[in-house]
Amino acid sequence: MVDFKNLFEDAVEFHGHTCLGLLIGVRMGVAALNILDVDRVSDEELYAVVENDSCAVDGLQTVTGVTLGKGNLLFKDYGKMAATFYLRNKKKAIRLVFKPESFGKIADEKDLREAMSEENPEKKMAKFAKIVKRFGDLPDNEVFDILSVEMDEPPMAEIRQSVRCEKCGEMTMETKSVVMDGKHLCIPCSTNMNYYRVK
Ligand SMILES: [Zn+2]
Ligand SMILES: [Zn+2]
Repeated sequence: MVDFKNLFEDAVEFHGHTCLGLLIGVRMGVAALNILDVDRVSDEELYAVVENDSCAVDGLQTVTGVTLGKGNLLFKDYGKMAATFYLRNKKKAIRLVFKPESFGKIADEKDLREAMSEENPEKKMAKFAKIVKRFGDLPDNEVFDILSVEMDEPPMAEIRQSVRCEKCGEMTMETKSVVMDGKHLCIPCSTNMNYYRVK
């Protein structure tokens, strides 16, 4: 079993800073691997649905090997500190919901506030050390509500053909393109709604 502190440090390196959200995500990843009895995956053996796009998601990705880029991580914008994991070979799914009261078991509010507000990265890591240790040592069921659930088997990621949008000229995955008046259009061109404006 990899040391929890090392896992957290690896996650900090990826994420860019030390924070409590990341700590929750790392702990969540560890709990998921523990409960499903699987190691960090290199491919799509494991699939996760996350319900927020907070710092925690980076921790979870670092620990489990479930990543947005591999197509085995789905984001649902529900604003919940919860995730559901599906292990393909066992067709087994578990849902983890973070218990905020677990923080009360590892540090008092003042220590948590001080650790979070420290600006020097090295001092911050030092202040986090005790918190990280205690959080890693808490049993999974004291940090998360653990539910055994059922879900449909998620599709495997596929490489899809691209077509050229006939309005902006950019290549677009065929399954994401829209045919309007016989023309292939990308989603922003088909809706006339885009998040940027060309200068
Ligand atoms: Zn963060
Ligand atoms: Zn377009």
